[in-house]
Amino acid sequence: MAQNPSAKSVPRPPTLAERHSGIPERLASIAQEAKEKLYSKKTLPESVPRLREVPRLPPDTTRESFDRAIVELRDSLGAENVVLNDKPLEDGWYIEHPNTHDAFHIVDQEELVCSAVVYPESTAEVQSIVKWANKHMIPIYPISMGRNVGYGGSAPRVPGSVVIDLGKRMNKILKIDAENASCVVEPGVSYFALYEEIQRRKLPLWIDTPDLGGGSVLGNATDRGVGYTPYGDHFANHCGMEVVLPNGELLRTGMGAMPGKNGADNPTWQSFQPAYGPYSDGIFSQSNFGIVCQMGFWLMPETGHQSYMITFPHDNDFANIVEIIRPLAQQRILGNIPQLRHVIQELSVTGLPKSHWFPGPGRVPRDVVRKHASSLPCGDCAWVFYGTQYGDPASIKTQLDMIKSAFSKIHGSRFFLPSDLPPDHYIHSRAAVCSGVPVLRELDWLNWVPNAAHLFFSPITPTRGEDAKIVHDINVRLHKKYGFDLFPTLCVAGREMHYIANIIYDRSSQDEKRRATALMRDLITEAAKEGYGEYRTHLLFADQVAGTYNWNNNALMRFNETLKDALDPNGILAPGRNGIWPKNFRGKGWQLMGAEVENAVGGGAITPKL
Ligand code: ADP
Repeated sequence: MAQNPSAKSVPRPPTLAERHSGIPERLASIAQEAKEKLYSKKTLPESVPRLREVPRLPPDTTRESFDRAIVELRDSLGAENVVLNDKPLEDGWYIEHPNTHDAFHIVDQEELVCSAVVYPESTAEVQSIVKWANKHMIPIYPISMGRNVGYGGSAPRVPGSVVIDLGKRMNKILKIDAENASCVVEPGVSYFALYEEIQRRKLPLWIDTPDLGGGSVLGNATDRGVGYTPYGDHFANHCGMEVVLPNGELLRTGMGAMPGKNGADNPTWQSFQPAYGPYSDGIFSQSNFGIVCQMGFWLMPETGHQSYMITFPHDNDFANIVEIIRPLAQQRILGNIPQLRHVIQELSVTGLPKSHWFPGPGRVPRDVVRKHASSLPCGDCAWVFYGTQYGDPASIKTQLDMIKSAFSKIHGSRFFLPSDLPPDHYIHSRAAVCSGVPVLRELDWLNWVPNAAHLFFSPITPTRGEDAKIVHDINVRLHKKYGFDLFPTLCVAGREMHYIANIIYDRSSQDEKRRATALMRDLITEAAKEGYGEYRTHLLFADQVAGTYNWNNNALMRFNETLKDALDPNGILAPGRNGIWPKNFRGKGWQLMGAEVENAVGGGAITPKL
């Protein structure tokens, strides 16, 4: 395919000083390079003219009533803070991402779009937007930073919803308590921003960041994302929320429910999670029961750390590796949430395209991966384990001795420290992430195909070789059937593993989109037959995944619907998110349970004819 000649002249990405979603100065040149690389592979135009009527209207809303409602919203928030989505759609890239649609579109780019974006400045303004939505029966969809890449980005599930972009104006770090090792943030605080502020204040604290540092600390935890230090379970390490309910009421959870002295925040809000009575925070994660406007987090006291890589020679070492990891993780000898990857990812994280390694069509054959891996530092191997240990040098040494001895039971395993590997090796970015330094390196594998986008298939399995192998075999078989390279990353804990398969497709190819969609659908179905379910999924697969959690005649979904109808009787907040539909949407054909997504690729609709 022809390369985009203007790639070298792409404008410089914004910095954090310029925009809440920008990059720190320390990463400016890396971001520029990453952008140039991605744009050099891009064959799609920056934007295409909108073919459908704009803006896309919310369901059951006439243009006249929509226009009237927008005038009212502009009067209350200021015209500049209510922007219609009526311009050509631009996918941008990770740092300059859209809040108008799913940049990694699967179905038509104009399908998963909002009608308008609104920018509140405060919790009080969020409350007034929610009241407005109830009055006009217009669905709203909150995003924090909108970088939920691979899971729908900033797109609403119901086309024509009004997106509440919380991050643009609500982006304050409200508090960093160095003694309690905690913070309170608004939705627009990225991992980059929190990290930079802690450095600026010279505090001996770490944040925990996902592979890419541009996401919202609050948004990621709300969607139950993970990172890689000992504080890697983001939701488990949050403490206290401030939430606007779908009727506009304001709630504080945990100890925050008790007023502090003289109107201050409660002094234990960031110290004790459940407080008194039912622990309500959970229902505000991966749901559509509230809009989180503030959230507290625990920060990790800084400590010594040592990252390492272990390689294993054979594909069928997989189950044994998992068996060795389990006791090490249960005994907390493994310091963090380590990652186990297939060797093909050693090729993709170099940032070189698939065509560099294999010019042919289709998947890269195993023997070609083998040949290239032989010339990389990892050598001819099958699996690569990235771990990090924490503490003082003596205890790190003791831990590493135990780990090496455990893995040496797999014949041919090899151990590497970062100092054994070249300066541009991926391990150095893992070492940063695993010590709480947010980076951008993980973007590199997006260069695998031109116009790359990705979907995550993210099932949970027990940390047991037998189970992991069943899920892996399903992935191997179905990726082969649909012609995609398999990129599995396993984030392993003592009792469960997140098996994350990254399906990379070319946004310009309807054929690839159709195959990627069919692959997702079959993976979800086949994993569920064996009893394995996803922890998170793209918006368009939410119904199917929710439908697999159907024990006892869908008792869980019936419970969620009871909550939804009680909290949101008008069904205005993020209808359909995580498969939870309010009663005014149920039974009208909104659910996508089978081939609907695949059939909509290339121009079809995912909305029912109302
Ligand atoms: P990030 O930029 O951290 O990747 P997003 O802002 O896209 O994440 O948030 C991920 C998803 O979580 C969103 O699509 C939205 O459905 C939900 N979400 C994000 N922020 C909030 C919030 N403040 N309140 C409620 N739900 C939220």
